[in-house]
Amino acid sequence: MNATPNAVSANSPKVVEATVYPGAIATRIDHAINWFRESSLWYLLFATACCGIELMQTGGPRTDVDRFGMVFRSTPRQSDLLIVAGAVTYKMADRVRLLWAQMADPKYVIAMGSCANCGGLFQRSYSVVQGVDQILPVDLYLPGCPPRPEALCDAMIQMQQKMRQEHWLDKMKGL
Ligand code: SF4
Repeated sequence: MNATPNAVSANSPKVVEATVYPGAIATRIDHAINWFRESSLWYLLFATACCGIELMQTGGPRTDVDRFGMVFRSTPRQSDLLIVAGAVTYKMADRVRLLWAQMADPKYVIAMGSCANCGGLFQRSYSVVQGVDQILPVDLYLPGCPPRPEALCDAMIQMQQKMRQEHWLDKMKGL
Protein backbone atom coordinates (compact mmCIF):
# COMPACT_ATOMS: atom_id res chain seq x y z
CA MET A 1 0.00 0.00 0.00
CA ASN A 2 2.88 2.32 0.87
CA ALA A 3 4.93 1.11 -2.07
CA THR A 4 5.66 4.50 -3.57
CA PRO A 5 7.16 7.40 -1.67
CA ASN A 6 4.25 9.73 -2.38
CA ALA A 7 1.45 7.29 -1.46
CA VAL A 8 0.80 9.30 1.72
CA SER A 9 -1.87 11.54 3.19
CA ALA A 10 -2.54 14.93 1.65
CA ASN A 11 -1.05 16.99 4.51
CA SER A 12 2.23 15.08 4.61
CA PRO A 13 5.37 16.36 2.94
CA LYS A 14 6.21 14.62 -0.31
CA VAL A 15 9.39 12.62 -0.40
CA VAL A 16 10.03 13.36 -4.06
CA GLU A 17 10.02 17.11 -4.65
CA ALA A 18 10.82 16.97 -8.34
CA THR A 19 11.92 14.58 -11.03
CA VAL A 20 15.09 16.11 -12.37
CA TYR A 21 15.13 13.82 -15.37
CA PRO A 22 14.00 10.22 -15.86
CA GLY A 23 15.76 8.14 -13.23
CA ALA A 24 16.85 11.05 -11.02
CA ILE A 25 14.85 12.83 -8.30
CA ALA A 26 15.33 15.82 -6.04
CA THR A 27 14.42 15.56 -2.37
CA ARG A 28 15.45 16.77 1.06
CA ILE A 29 17.62 14.60 3.28
CA ASP A 30 15.04 14.87 6.09
CA HIS A 31 12.25 13.61 3.84
CA ALA A 32 14.32 10.74 2.51
CA ILE A 33 15.51 9.62 5.97
CA ASN A 34 11.99 9.90 7.38
CA TRP A 35 10.69 7.81 4.50
CA PHE A 36 13.27 5.10 5.19
CA ARG A 37 12.49 5.15 8.91
CA GLU A 38 8.72 5.09 8.61
CA SER A 39 8.91 2.26 6.08
CA SER A 40 10.81 0.04 8.52
CA LEU A 41 9.01 0.63 11.81
CA TRP A 42 9.93 -2.45 13.82
CA TYR A 43 7.94 -3.02 16.99
CA LEU A 44 9.01 -5.00 20.01
CA LEU A 45 7.37 -8.40 20.54
CA PHE A 46 6.09 -7.56 23.97
CA ALA A 47 2.83 -7.35 25.90
CA THR A 48 1.85 -7.03 29.51
CA ALA A 49 -1.85 -8.02 29.53
CA CYS A 50 -4.90 -8.95 27.47
CA CYS A 51 -4.40 -6.16 24.89
CA GLY A 52 -1.48 -8.31 23.78
CA ILE A 53 -3.91 -10.72 22.11
CA GLU A 54 -5.06 -7.91 19.81
CA LEU A 55 -1.45 -6.96 19.18
CA MET A 56 -0.72 -10.54 18.09
CA GLN A 57 -3.73 -10.47 15.80
CA THR A 58 -2.54 -7.18 14.29
CA GLY A 59 0.59 -8.96 13.13
CA GLY A 60 -1.51 -11.72 11.55
CA PRO A 61 -2.66 -12.05 7.95
CA ARG A 62 -5.98 -10.22 8.28
CA THR A 63 -4.58 -6.85 9.34
CA ASP A 64 -1.16 -7.59 7.88
CA VAL A 65 0.91 -4.61 9.01
CA ASP A 66 3.93 -6.17 7.27
CA ARG A 67 2.74 -4.42 4.12
CA PHE A 68 3.70 -1.10 5.76
CA GLY A 69 7.17 -2.38 6.59
CA MET A 70 6.17 -3.03 10.21
CA VAL A 71 7.48 -6.28 11.60
CA PHE A 72 8.02 -7.39 15.17
CA ARG A 73 11.44 -8.01 16.59
CA SER A 74 12.19 -10.17 19.59
CA THR A 75 14.92 -7.93 20.91
CA PRO A 76 14.65 -4.28 21.96
CA ARG A 77 17.98 -3.51 20.32
CA GLN A 78 16.45 -3.98 16.87
CA SER A 79 13.16 -2.25 17.68
CA ASP A 80 12.20 1.40 17.39
CA LEU A 81 8.54 1.15 18.43
CA LEU A 82 7.32 0.00 21.84
CA ILE A 83 3.62 -0.82 21.94
CA VAL A 84 2.66 -1.02 25.59
CA ALA A 85 -0.19 -3.50 25.20
CA GLY A 86 -2.10 -3.63 28.44
CA ALA A 87 -1.89 -2.82 32.09
CA VAL A 88 1.55 -2.34 33.62
CA THR A 89 1.95 -3.22 37.27
CA TYR A 90 4.40 -1.35 39.46
CA LYS A 91 6.29 -4.63 39.73
CA MET A 92 6.73 -4.68 35.92
CA ALA A 93 7.40 -0.95 35.53
CA ASP A 94 11.17 -1.19 35.94
CA ARG A 95 11.34 -3.99 33.34
CA VAL A 96 9.25 -2.03 30.85
CA ARG A 97 11.46 0.98 31.30
CA LEU A 98 14.58 -1.16 30.89
CA LEU A 99 13.25 -2.58 27.60
CA TRP A 100 12.53 0.95 26.38
CA ALA A 101 16.04 2.09 27.39
CA GLN A 102 17.59 -0.75 25.37
CA MET A 103 15.77 0.20 22.16
CA ALA A 104 17.46 1.92 19.26
CA ASP A 105 17.19 5.71 19.00
CA PRO A 106 15.11 7.45 17.81
CA LYS A 107 12.30 5.43 19.38
CA TYR A 108 8.58 5.73 19.83
CA VAL A 109 5.92 4.55 22.27
CA ILE A 110 2.25 3.74 21.71
CA ALA A 111 0.10 3.30 24.83
CA MET A 112 -2.38 0.66 23.68
CA GLY A 113 -5.66 0.29 25.55
CA SER A 114 -7.30 2.09 28.43
CA CYS A 115 -5.15 0.39 31.04
CA ALA A 116 -1.94 1.64 29.44
CA ASN A 117 -3.49 5.07 28.84
CA CYS A 118 -4.79 5.76 32.35
CA GLY A 119 -5.13 2.60 34.42
CA GLY A 120 -8.44 1.62 32.77
CA LEU A 121 -10.23 -1.10 34.72
CA PHE A 122 -7.62 -0.85 37.42
CA GLN A 123 -7.97 2.83 38.22
CA ARG A 124 -8.42 2.18 41.91
CA SER A 125 -5.82 -0.53 42.08
CA TYR A 126 -2.83 -0.22 44.40
CA SER A 127 -0.66 -2.28 42.04
CA VAL A 128 -1.20 -0.87 38.51
CA VAL A 129 0.57 2.16 37.02
CA GLN A 130 -2.08 4.78 36.26
CA GLY A 131 -0.89 5.44 32.73
CA VAL A 132 2.44 4.44 31.23
CA ASP A 133 3.23 8.09 30.59
CA GLN A 134 4.27 8.11 34.25
CA ILE A 135 7.26 5.94 33.36
CA LEU A 136 7.80 6.49 29.58
CA PRO A 137 7.43 9.32 27.05
CA VAL A 138 4.29 8.32 25.12
CA ASP A 139 3.95 9.47 21.50
CA LEU A 140 0.46 8.17 20.80
CA TYR A 141 -2.49 7.06 22.95
CA LEU A 142 -4.84 4.41 21.61
CA PRO A 143 -8.03 4.11 23.68
CA GLY A 144 -10.31 1.08 23.92
CA CYS A 145 -10.69 -2.09 25.95
CA PRO A 146 -9.22 -3.69 24.00
CA PRO A 147 -8.59 -1.69 20.81
CA ARG A 148 -9.27 -3.86 17.78
CA PRO A 149 -6.45 -4.78 15.39
CA GLU A 150 -7.83 -2.30 12.84
CA ALA A 151 -7.53 0.47 15.45
CA LEU A 152 -3.94 -0.49 16.24
CA CYS A 153 -3.15 -0.61 12.54
CA ASP A 154 -4.56 2.91 12.20
CA ALA A 155 -2.48 4.06 15.19
CA MET A 156 0.64 2.68 13.56
CA ILE A 157 -0.15 4.52 10.34
CA GLN A 158 -0.64 7.71 12.35
CA MET A 159 2.73 7.09 13.93
CA GLN A 160 4.24 6.91 10.45
CA GLN A 161 2.59 10.24 9.62
CA LYS A 162 4.02 11.77 12.79
CA MET A 163 7.49 10.51 11.85
CA ARG A 164 7.09 12.02 8.40
CA GLN A 165 6.74 15.51 9.93
CA GLU A 166 9.87 15.26 12.05
CA HIS A 167 13.27 16.78 11.68
CA TRP A 168 15.37 13.67 12.04
CA LEU A 169 18.42 15.34 13.58
CA ASP A 170 16.31 17.12 16.21
CA LYS A 171 14.72 13.82 17.15
CA MET A 172 18.16 12.24 17.56
CA LYS A 173 19.15 15.12 19.84
CA GLY A 174 15.95 14.68 21.81
CA LEU A 175 14.60 18.12 20.85
S1 SF4 B 1 -7.55 -2.21 28.16
FE1 SF4 B 1 -8.93 -3.97 28.47
S2 SF4 B 1 -8.09 -5.55 27.12
FE2 SF4 B 1 -6.47 -4.02 27.42
S3 SF4 B 1 -5.24 -4.73 29.15
FE3 SF4 B 1 -6.83 -3.38 29.97
S4 SF4 B 1 -8.51 -4.74 30.55
FE4 SF4 B 1 -7.18 -5.90 29.15
